[in-house]
Amino acid sequence: MSPRSNNLEHEHRIAVYPGSFDPVTFGHLDIIRRAAKQFDQLIVAVLNNTSKRPLFSVDERKKLLADVTRDLPNVEIDSFRDLLVRYMRSRQAQVIVRGIRSVTDFEYELQMASTNRQLDEGIETVFMMTNPKYSYLSSSIVKEIAKFNGPVQDLVPPAVEAALQGKYKPSLGDFN
Ligand code: ADP
Repeated sequence: MSPRSNNLEHEHRIAVYPGSFDPVTFGHLDIIRRAAKQFDQLIVAVLNNTSKRPLFSVDERKKLLADVTRDLPNVEIDSFRDLLVRYMRSRQAQVIVRGIRSVTDFEYELQMASTNRQLDEGIETVFMMTNPKYSYLSSSIVKEIAKFNGPVQDLVPPAVEAALQGKYKPSLGDFN
């Protein structure tokens, strides 16, 4: 039997988890850990989106992601600025992973998944439900708390907490 006709042969399943990750939170990390178990390779891809004004540069976001996923051997960190489906093809990835926290997320994600399907039928979107512990957690909430010097240690890994402190270091003028 040729290797091609042997349907027991394992196909290398590559998934992409795209997002802003500005910065990565425990909510993202939970999805990364769970998705990494479902695929041979998981590429966490930071969207280099010029229309958003991020707090962290793409390089900073990638470094933080690499730092907090160091113990996951099948997770790779990358970035992209192309159309997602085109990036997927270039990485030979078949599956898009997205997380869902709420009905609001669902509506937006359904629209995105339908658009991507329209663009490329060969690419599947898989949704993972949030860990209820993190259903309220977003990068924006974390930035809002950190801006006012509030506690974020239950929301982000220590490396991210330190990076946030670096961004929001109070200057003398801030106490007025
Ligand atoms: P984007 O700008 O693409 O929405 P985000 O970094 O905000 O980028 O989110 C990336 C993905 O992670 C999205 O699918 C989002 O729904 C998911 N996500 C974000 N926070 C959480 C969380 N706390 N629990 C589960 N999924 C989450």
